[in-house]
Amino acid sequence: MKLRFWGVRGSFAMSGREYLRYGGNTTSIELVTNAGKRLLVDLGTGATELAKTLMGSEFGKGQGTLPILLTHTHLDHIQGLPFFTPFFIKGNEIQIKGANPSSGLSLEATLQNQLAPHYSPLNGLENLAAGVSIESFTAGDTIAVPGYEVVTAALPHGSMWTTGLRIKADNKIVTILSDVEYPTPDEPLPQAIELARGADLLVHDAMHADHDYEQRRGWGHSPARAGVTVAELAGAKKLALFHHSPDATDEMIDELVERTAARASVPVFAAAEGKYLDV
Ligand SMILES: [Zn+2]
Repeated sequence: MKLRFWGVRGSFAMSGREYLRYGGNTTSIELVTNAGKRLLVDLGTGATELAKTLMGSEFGKGQGTLPILLTHTHLDHIQGLPFFTPFFIKGNEIQIKGANPSSGLSLEATLQNQLAPHYSPLNGLENLAAGVSIESFTAGDTIAVPGYEVVTAALPHGSMWTTGLRIKADNKIVTILSDVEYPTPDEPLPQAIELARGADLLVHDAMHADHDYEQRRGWGHSPARAGVTVAELAGAKKLALFHHSPDATDEMIDELVERTAARASVPVFAAAEGKYLDV
């Protein structure tokens, strides 16, 4: 299985010379199995860059099929939806799957809101030319996606919930735990540890440097050390720090990795836009 980060930034997209190495787009992660089955996690602004490359393949001819999993519906995870060009080509089949937001609105109604005329000229999901299905699940369910087995769990994210993902394919496991804040960062919740159990790669929220966290407690995000604790308790093989703060320059992220790796018994790196990684 291969993985590519198309967006690694949290909250909002950044541009500028200080953000070039890790990248300024908001979250989107592409997975591809050895047999070529693709799965996209989240539709942040990074997804628009993936869209450009997809248009050179079967998606440009209206013959593409793509499952997309949403961790939750905060804007930084769906802002690429109205600009994801495969949606505009008739014949493509795209399935969006996610838990219903804890706000009480359904997943479909929430995404419809995003395309309402006061936010977007698209005026609704029904105006997308591709075949688009919105399927909600209950966090905790195991989800069938062609080529993958995905186990999910609800995790606290400030005043709402996000969905943690344990994604298995080709006998490899990628666990994505983003936009999560445990009641005590040094005591991750058991469901998070279970999702990360023996993972080949754990991608974990690291929005805050450890020394900044106390001022930001309750904002719904983790200090970098929480990912280390999950990785170590779960026996994960590698940890990618993810959902970088829009304030974090390349140099600050380098420093975050250095400090985090110094206390970790697993290899640590910071997620960066730009190339396929072998899981
Ligand atoms: Zn986010």
